[in-house]
Amino acid sequence: MNEGKILIRDGTAVIDQNVSEFDILIENEKIKAVGNLKETDADDVIDASGMLVLPGGIDTHVHFDDEFMNTVSVHDYYKGTLAAAYGGTTSVIDFSNQIPGKPLIDTLLNKKNDAAGKAVIDYSVHPVISDPSDDILDEIQVLVEEGAPTFKCYLTYRKEGLLIENDELIKITEKLKKAGGMLMVHAEDNDSLELIIPELLDAGKTSAFYHAVSRPSTVEDMAIENVLQVIRKTKARLFVVHLASGNGMKILAAARAEGLDVLAETCIHYLVFTEDILKRDDGIKWICSPALRSKTIQDELWRGVNDGRISMVTSDDAAFSWDAKLMGKDSFDRCPNGIAGIEPRFVILYSEGVAGGRITLPKFVDLISTNPAKIFGMYPQKGTLLPGADADIVILDPGEEWIMGYDTLHMGTDYSAYENIEITGKIRKVFSRGELIIDGDRCLAEKGRGRFIFRKLDQ
Ligand SMILES: [Zn+2]
Repeated sequence: MNEGKILIRDGTAVIDQNVSEFDILIENEKIKAVGNLKETDADDVIDASGMLVLPGGIDTHVHFDDEFMNTVSVHDYYKGTLAAAYGGTTSVIDFSNQIPGKPLIDTLLNKKNDAAGKAVIDYSVHPVISDPSDDILDEIQVLVEEGAPTFKCYLTYRKEGLLIENDELIKITEKLKKAGGMLMVHAEDNDSLELIIPELLDAGKTSAFYHAVSRPSTVEDMAIENVLQVIRKTKARLFVVHLASGNGMKILAAARAEGLDVLAETCIHYLVFTEDILKRDDGIKWICSPALRSKTIQDELWRGVNDGRISMVTSDDAAFSWDAKLMGKDSFDRCPNGIAGIEPRFVILYSEGVAGGRITLPKFVDLISTNPAKIFGMYPQKGTLLPGADADIVILDPGEEWIMGYDTLHMGTDYSAYENIEITGKIRKVFSRGELIIDGDRCLAEKGRGRFIFRKLDQ
């Protein structure tokens, strides 16, 4: 299938904000031409009439093989990228934690080793800095040059050894600014959490719902204000991951108006679920951080997604087994934080967003593919159907209605937080670099075909 020319004809494609009937010619892993190509010779012709033809999804926030809260995520590079592919995602960026006592480059090399022989789609890595010694700071430049220019720091999880303090943030962002990198932050104020959580637990408020009570959106806002103080000094580029605060969105918009280079994402679960679901007997399924929010905040996040204050919608895929989640059944603070969402993200954002009348189709493409590619240094190799781009393409049937549940998904968890969700739109085919990897219910991808994406940020 990889050899020769493939013509996808008669579909409705989204190219550079234009929605129109474009045929697409694929050759040598790339998009060769778009337009009226009906007379063009091809070895394979795919009839996409009645279908949408879209750039493959890009999920810049996933955690594979992630050791966290006394467990490890069940999505390795095979299971994680397989589920991604079924879900219409053709590129992922995974987080790789600094290994204590080891050079930072080791974490990137280890991830490449993990992906070898396993990844079925293309991938890249965000290094996570947890202990910024002078040697580690000096390596920031090296990792930028190795194609991994976006670094994450946690403003919480002190006990887990991840918290980065302000004086450290200054040093890190000075280096990033110089090297052409970007800081990503998990913004929740650690001091507030360390006050609130023990109070609730002491009062016997231990069920899943109190996870949300323990981490209100004001805790996010405080951490955002805090990191903005740092950015005002160092003028480094900032990206706030998994934003789940309407007020936080306003703070960041004001910072942009001030001239700071700050952007944010939200995650699909904040747009689908509200905190009320944590009251269910199996509420621990939806324990994630930041926590799920009220309907009011969810509506605000949708507005931000539509008006551009939020640049993309990622999954924050953190796939923990049911046994691991059960560690938190009697005490929310012991539940590993995370929801597996790598597969549902694309089609739910289409269904709730486009079919639901909240966003336009070009906006959907921006949120799911183009903006992630541009902001994280992969454009125009990824994130577009323009000629010259990698032929990463999703063919989606916009009319089909179905019910999403555990049995319809391919993720590695033994349960799903996405159950009984009514969906409009079904993924029919997925191409990665011109190779048909998903054809209906079948995966045709060979393990290990995925390649490292070398990224460089626009300066
Ligand atoms: Zn995350």
